[in-house]
Amino acid sequence: MYLKPVIAANWKLNHGPTDARAFLQRFLAQSPKQNDRTVIFFPSALTVTTVMDGLKDRPDLWVGVQNVHSEAQGAFTGENSVLMARDIGARVVLVGHSERRHVFGETDAMTTRKMALISQARLIPMLCVGETLEEREGGHTAAVVERQLTAGLAELDDAQVAAIMLAYEPVWAIGTGRTATPEDASEIHGVLRQALASRVGDKVAAGIPILYGGSVNRGNAAQLLAAPDVDGLLVGGASLDADSWASIVRA
Ligand code: PEP
Repeated sequence: MYLKPVIAANWKLNHGPTDARAFLQRFLAQSPKQNDRTVIFFPSALTVTTVMDGLKDRPDLWVGVQNVHSEAQGAFTGENSVLMARDIGARVVLVGHSERRHVFGETDAMTTRKMALISQARLIPMLCVGETLEEREGGHTAAVVERQLTAGLAELDDAQVAAIMLAYEPVWAIGTGRTATPEDASEIHGVLRQALASRVGDKVAAGIPILYGGSVNRGNAAQLLAAPDVDGLLVGGASLDADSWASIVRA
């Protein structure tokens, strides 16, 4: 079982096995075991085994995958499957990351399917939701994230909903250096918590980790983490450097 806060590194299309080995050596040298949080690495699928090997003595450091296909198996050249993710020992799978949605055209219907497959495989899906700048400026943030959340949960039973992780990642803040203020993050996390509560009740909703992501760095991590309703961080760019990531993990 994980502990909150959950601090997750999304390496995107960076760090092959050679880089990952060097990264882990440097990161582990300055990162003693912490019993009050769970840290997750999302490396490229081709780097997962290397990261798992490097972390085998550290149960507090988990490994996940960045994506799986919306079918469990079949003629889908180039894709990775949830069954393979489970087989390799991954514990968490990102779903609906903004780059999947906006670069690769992942639809709400695809996130519905993926969330169901991942839950059935008894892995933890980390559903990412977030509005574009246009949607924010149009006053649609709450409606957008609620729609994405509803789609993500559509095929899950209540026990499966209780086992998810959620990440609020405003699209305008991802990789842009523009971070939501802790107040902005708290407000939308509150909207998501409320939506979860209306599905599974207050008590269960309170236990579901809601992470914030979008230009988190070592300078703003502690403040974001201290904000009400922020249960963790999902970090892209600032997780690529071992020193920077180690200091965020200590935040
Ligand atoms: C992400 O990719 O999930 C992310 C939050 O990226 P960055 O930290 O670089 O904005």
